[in-house]
Amino acid sequence: MRKVIFISAGPGDPDLITIKAVYHLRKSEVILVDRLVSPEILKKYSNSKIKIIYVGKRSTCCRNENPLYMTQKRINDIMIYHALRGKYVVRLKGGDVSIFSNIMDELIELKKYHISYEIIPGVTAAVGAAAYTGIPLTARGYASSVRFITLHDPNSIHKDQWIELMNTSDTLVFYMCIQKLDFIFDKLIMNKRNIYTDKLVAIVEQATTPMQKVYTSSLYNCKELIRKEKKFLSPSLVIIGKTVNLHRKFKWTSDLYFFPKKNYFVS
Ligand code: SAH
Repeated sequence: MRKVIFISAGPGDPDLITIKAVYHLRKSEVILVDRLVSPEILKKYSNSKIKIIYVGKRSTCCRNENPLYMTQKRINDIMIYHALRGKYVVRLKGGDVSIFSNIMDELIELKKYHISYEIIPGVTAAVGAAAYTGIPLTARGYASSVRFITLHDPNSIHKDQWIELMNTSDTLVFYMCIQKLDFIFDKLIMNKRNIYTDKLVAIVEQATTPMQKVYTSSLYNCKELIRKEKKFLSPSLVIIGKTVNLHRKFKWTSDLYFFPKKNYFVS
């Protein structure tokens, strides 16, 4: 079979993976794994004799320091190599494979070689964090839409968009932004028209894992929170909106983690 199966691993809790994903993991012969995938998934659902290749990419700022850095080209080459040899290849990515992942680069490459593929959806980090923090992202009366945003390139958001982002009632979820928190809050506060005292910020560290931590503050005290905490653990994301107020009322804890408290993400 010349085919690659893209599998969404979910945000951390290994039990958030789909039954369809597990079906393919059990049959796979080669798995290419990203950095933000819970090792428990491999332990629980893959065959112990298969070939597991870690292809985690780090941000470009670490490229020179990290000997394990893998370029997208190298990942494509490894995937194509195994697929052309007829191996049952799984490409396992954190969260949902269609959200802020480089799936398109890999799909283009597969098309080039006429290799077929399947894409299995999953729980993206924003949705996992929303559930495990008790913040319904579109709660009636609080927000009627939600936006997933990344700031990989800080200049990708234009000044007018910042003004709009500050003044919208939508819930905003920022991915891959933890090193740019100061920048985000400066932009949002600078572009305010009204004082939104009812908008809160939640920074969610390692969502859906036993180490999940939630920090909340008003938009205007955020800089203070960043100064106090200094460093948030990876992976983290930021939820901004009136909906964050619901965390205090609806937060919950689980006794049902069937996995250890450490070694959470493949790094
Ligand atoms: N495809 C993934 C996103 C990859 S981008 C998905 O759908 O979730 C990587 C970013 O996702 C991280 O920088 C962080 O902002 C966010 N993220 C992934 N897992 C997370 C987790 N368990 N807790 C908090 N944020 C997470």
